[in-house]
Amino acid sequence: MSEVVNSEGAKKKFSHPKGLYVLFTAEMWERFSYYGMRAILILFMTTDMAAEGLGLTTETAGAVYGLYTASVYLMTLPGGWLADNIFGQRKAVFYGGVLIMIGHLVLAIPGSPAIFFTGLAFVALGTGLLKGNISTLVGELYENEDGAKRDAGFSIFYMGINLGSFFGQLFVPLLAEYNWHLGFGLAAIGMFFGLIAYKVYAPKYLKEIGVEPKAKSIEKTGKSNNSVTLGIIAFILVLLVTLQLLGHIDVTTATGIAQALGLIIVVITMGYFINILFNGGLNLIEKKKVTVIFILFVGIAIFWSGFEQAASSLNLFARDFTNRFIGGWEMPAGMLQSFNSGFIIIFAPIIGALWVKLAARNINVRTPFKFAVGLVLLGLGFWVMVEAAQVAASGAKAGMFALILTYFLHSIGELTISPVGLSATSKLSPKKYLGQMMGIWFVGAALGNLIAGLIGGNFDPENVLEMPNIFLNVVWVSVGAGIIFFAASPFIKKWMGEVT
Ligand code: GLN
Repeated sequence: MSEVVNSEGAKKKFSHPKGLYVLFTAEMWERFSYYGMRAILILFMTTDMAAEGLGLTTETAGAVYGLYTASVYLMTLPGGWLADNIFGQRKAVFYGGVLIMIGHLVLAIPGSPAIFFTGLAFVALGTGLLKGNISTLVGELYENEDGAKRDAGFSIFYMGINLGSFFGQLFVPLLAEYNWHLGFGLAAIGMFFGLIAYKVYAPKYLKEIGVEPKAKSIEKTGKSNNSVTLGIIAFILVLLVTLQLLGHIDVTTATGIAQALGLIIVVITMGYFINILFNGGLNLIEKKKVTVIFILFVGIAIFWSGFEQAASSLNLFARDFTNRFIGGWEMPAGMLQSFNSGFIIIFAPIIGALWVKLAARNINVRTPFKFAVGLVLLGLGFWVMVEAAQVAASGAKAGMFALILTYFLHSIGELTISPVGLSATSKLSPKKYLGQMMGIWFVGAALGNLIAGLIGGNFDPENVLEMPNIFLNVVWVSVGAGIIFFAASPFIKKWMGEVT
């Protein structure tokens, strides 16, 4: 890594390790394929067979969307384990990319739902291997004491993520207008480019990083956990059977399976935290910090459960109730989601600079407050959608501006929550649980995505009058959660100790 001292001598400018740009490129193309495909997923599933869609009901399609996107993030847990214990991060990322590409190729084959679900499964498994491990590799490019450089590296990496998703959400929906499977095929080509870049440049620029599996990580908490794990599994089974018998969950439907998965995630996560707090060998200070991680987990799950409706309910709203004409050209519905990534690319540096500026004036905006702001912004975005849905309920079409404004508010919210929460989680975590706590972060994304799918499933294009209410409920939950974060922030701050 080269370091340059600039002319004033005081401020050191530095260049990032070249490996960062290899990982940037690979992740950019991976996100191109992921978000590109996701932008058309629910549209494809709910389109009639006559128009070459899958002809599923919105409810089933929403549940499948939730199950798929949740699995993508849940799979990062076994993906991390496989890398740590068997493959090493480097190979895990490559194999993941290959599986993702195969998945998109399978999706590109027109045919039965069985082929389609096989494709989705490949993409989910592949992303599990790639997504978490590629971030781990980014972290490993920097020495431990390089905190600020590492943060800067992750910001650049986040740009790669959003550049990829921006173009994916632009081009995949555009091609899908002609033929769904061309859209899926383009996602495969995107991943192919990522793989080539990775294969050619990783050996040169990543050198030995991530080649050997870390192997030792998991062991530690061994024995006493077995009974806890069995206890949790037994509890979940009893709960599921009871709910099935009472008729609250019907696991023979996609919605029921999604609800069951949501329940399983919630129970296991709570069991995990309770176990760590009582059996984890932590002192009081560490226990308080772990409790804060749990609180942040709840916050991020609520945030994603609204935000990730971009490709479920908001996508359906874009298709069915939004006037997407620009002159004589009608913008494909899925394309509107690219506004999110576009706003992130523009505003990430601005928001980053804002925190630095405020800090320079001794105003340190701390994590719980930023969470409160993000959740309120999420709510405001949905409030715009309530208004738009009212227009739709009156029989007219809403203007595109509503969705664009919503994405703007959500993007600023994303910037005040997502990078902040990730970094706080890593700093609050006791060292020996770091890997697992980062896993918990992805579980938060999984839970949020699942709920976003289930809410999207409630979206009934035949029942327009219900729509404002669906969005209004999201407003209450997110603004409510924001207010709670705001009110609790003095306590949370105390428990966080020196961590900002
Ligand atoms: N957009 C970000 C990414 O794809 C964050 C998504 C998430 O964690 N839900 O990496």
